[in-house]
Amino acid sequence: MWHALVIKSVYTLGDLRNWENVISLRQLPIRFGVLGDPVAHSLSPQMQNAALKQAKIYAQYARFEIRAAELKAALDLMRTLGFWGANLTVPHKVAALRFVDELDGSAARAGAINTLMFESDQMRGFNTDGVGISRAIAEEFSRGLREFRVLLLGAGGAARAIASQCLEEGVAHLGIWSRTHAAVYQLGKELAAREGNVSIEVIAPDRDALFVAAGNAELIINATPVGLRADDQPLLMREAFTKRHFVYDTVYQPSSTRLIEEAKAAGASTANGLSMLLHQGAEAFSLWTRRPAPLETMREALRRPSSS
Ligand code: NAP
Repeated sequence: MWHALVIKSVYTLGDLRNWENVISLRQLPIRFGVLGDPVAHSLSPQMQNAALKQAKIYAQYARFEIRAAELKAALDLMRTLGFWGANLTVPHKVAALRFVDELDGSAARAGAINTLMFESDQMRGFNTDGVGISRAIAEEFSRGLREFRVLLLGAGGAARAIASQCLEEGVAHLGIWSRTHAAVYQLGKELAAREGNVSIEVIAPDRDALFVAAGNAELIINATPVGLRADDQPLLMREAFTKRHFVYDTVYQPSSTRLIEEAKAAGASTANGLSMLLHQGAEAFSLWTRRPAPLETMREALRRPSSS
């Protein structure tokens, strides 16, 4: 019988430490979760819980607000508590590299992990963000990633996976920008060391250089958290965009960020990060369950107003 979901909106490390008193035996066991800070906005639970239910898998997926310094303790607890898998979001994707026992090629190439599998005493790291962005761009803009000159904003976990995917697909040109020179320089160095003919440009960490780079790009992808808060100033304003631009914001909550509004006002084609969330989540579901993901069920769940 399918028990009612009795689940808190957000769990903490303290909850994991006191797990048997926190969870009820009458609820479906929580075997999956997304770890992040902030994480309360994440729509992964409603998407993954719909998929688990559709696949008749007796488990559920929850949010865990875990600070940077708490990651190792949280992962160790999840492993011993019998969790099957997890997703990582800001700020954990790069930090998690040093805690896993085995790294899949997707995560090794990106230098970031967004999906974990707990298997007996092993923890394996994967990255499904690259597949996620690739399918999202094709779906939203009816063109493959490789057909664009790309400008990527950010040099963190999500940006690393997107940049890696751009190289795998052989984009014509990849510009990378971050407010922190050291991070973007390091990423540029790693990308340049890989095989392939992609021309990689590390853009100076100032707004003037970013404006010029936007003019030279066709597809602009925001992989920073700028836009998550309604009062965030976008990294590019409408003067930077034209009708020929395609702008993809990996932020999906709120559904329209200021960056998207500015790009739309200039006539650019735009999309938010919901499609990437869907496709990276579907790939994670398949890894955890070794079954094809019920994509349309997951898509439909994301269309519903946000719930726990
Ligand atoms: P992360 O590893 O912490 O990296 C964040 C990046 O954004 C860093 O390069 C950081 O630069 C930069 N940044 C942060 N605040 C900034 C600001 N105010 N101005 C300019 N740059 C700033 O985080 P992440 O895991 O890559 O996630 C980044 C975003 O992507 C999040 O909003 C997340 O929700 C989104 N995302 C969405 C999906 C999806 O499926 N739609 C998937 C993955 C990620 P510094 O190094 O200078 O701090």
